Amino acid sequence: MIFKKKSTIILLALIIVLVIPGCQTKISQESSNESQVVEKETVYEADVIVIGAGNAGLAAAVSAAESGASVIVLEKMPMVGGNSVRSGGVYNAVHPEKQKQQNIEDSEELFYQHTMEGGDNKGNPALVSTLVKNALDGLQWLESYGLKFENTVTQAPGALWVRSHQPKEPAGGNGVVSTLKKAADDLNVDIRLETKAIELLTDDSGKVIGVKAETVGKDKKEIEYKAKKGVVVATGGFGAGVDIRTRYNPNLTAEIPTTNHPGATGDGIVMMEKLNAEFIDMDIIQIHPLALPSTGGLEGGARYMAGIENIILVNGEGNRFIAEDARRDTLTSALFEHLKKTGVVYEINDSQIVEEKNQWGQSVEDLIEKGIIIKAETLADLEKALNIPDGNLQKTIADYNLAVENKKDSELNRELFDKKIEVGPFFAVSRVPSVHYTIGGVKINENTEVLDKEGNVIKGLFAAGEVTGGVHGGNRLGGNGVTDTIVFGRIAGKNASK
Ligand code: ADP
Repeated sequence: MIFKKKSTIILLALIIVLVIPGCQTKISQESSNESQVVEKETVYEADVIVIGAGNAGLAAAVSAAESGASVIVLEKMPMVGGNSVRSGGVYNAVHPEKQKQQNIEDSEELFYQHTMEGGDNKGNPALVSTLVKNALDGLQWLESYGLKFENTVTQAPGALWVRSHQPKEPAGGNGVVSTLKKAADDLNVDIRLETKAIELLTDDSGKVIGVKAETVGKDKKEIEYKAKKGVVVATGGFGAGVDIRTRYNPNLTAEIPTTNHPGATGDGIVMMEKLNAEFIDMDIIQIHPLALPSTGGLEGGARYMAGIENIILVNGEGNRFIAEDARRDTLTSALFEHLKKTGVVYEINDSQIVEEKNQWGQSVEDLIEKGIIIKAETLADLEKALNIPDGNLQKTIADYNLAVENKKDSELNRELFDKKIEVGPFFAVSRVPSVHYTIGGVKINENTEVLDKEGNVIKGLFAAGEVTGGVHGGNRLGGNGVTDTIVFGRIAGKNASK
């Protein structure tokens, strides 16, 4: 069992240090080993221990701290942010005030319907309902901590409706993460970087009472974190863990790139497996259709607004091949097919939507210099630069502009139109599908309590974010991921601190 004394301890020093007055307690046991003193075992204590400092973990930590709890966050990487910081930060929510200005009809019922149907009706109705009902409140909660969103509401790729909110200041996924990190710091949340959770600790009744972790790096130390109230697992997905992802989906071999950060290896899944937790939809792994071939990541595009309304996709022959406002899985299949046929797929933008910086805050000029974005003054020049047969891209875009004018795309049935592609210079970015998001995960209820295989709550254990399953069904809508982490992260933090 945990926290027991080791017989090998020569010098036993039990020091109780108040790390934050009234909050975490550090208990350290040290042993002398001839010439050096090695810290053998250290125990820290807080009301709530959160594992993972992406959106879900940070939201949980801030929400627990708001409830008055002392909080320690364990993060195995040298920085916070996980996959969240790599995302575009796009947040889906019904926002009548903003949507009305653009004449967009929307409602929570429609958001629910899109999320359920877009996920092949496999989502858990109670979780989807919780998601849509708390989305706007979650967005305004981020705003209350200083995050500013764009005034214009867009439709993120694979979002199915114009209800996507882009972080503006700070921009992109970093906008959400840095806002939460600052809020956590202001609320005295203790974030331990390079500290990897390796085991969930339980008492004799099976209640989760803490976490065993080890420090990452050359001075590896094992540390135990005792939770007086609850543990939140927010370790994200397993898209970067080729072993674990091929265990559940053998097609996703190492050759397929990933948008994920290297730490997305499913550690939380492995830890919770040992507690008889139930997992669902583990084989459903979303492949993002529009990543960069060089890195597998999403960042690096030209467009400033991540909305699909002003983007077209063309294959190596310069032809459109899919309604760009389709679901992500439909887009992905089409991209695989046309990459196979023509070797390359480009996203095309014009100057009306490209600004000095893209939504990750990267300089478009820098990306052009690096050859990631291809820029040309005219469509004829762009065609040449992309080795597309003479006239094909020009014809494709003339046809597309006609479809925008008539609001009708008879060939591919695209429904979402905004501006024509007509103002030079023009931009092209090569795109490939990349393993993006593990939709399945541990089973939770609306209170974010983790359930075991018999359907019972595992006491003391909460989970939120990509590590969980059930919110997105068979396909996650673009922009619903960030909403998921904030809505359920907040609930997890609040409930874990009770
Ligand atoms: P989410 O979107 O669900 O918040 P993220 O990928 O953004 O997921 O964040 C998950 C975080 O959890 C990452 O920063 C990752 O490094 C961290 N993490 C994963 N496994 C562990 C672990 N064993 N111990 C501590 N942190 C972990």
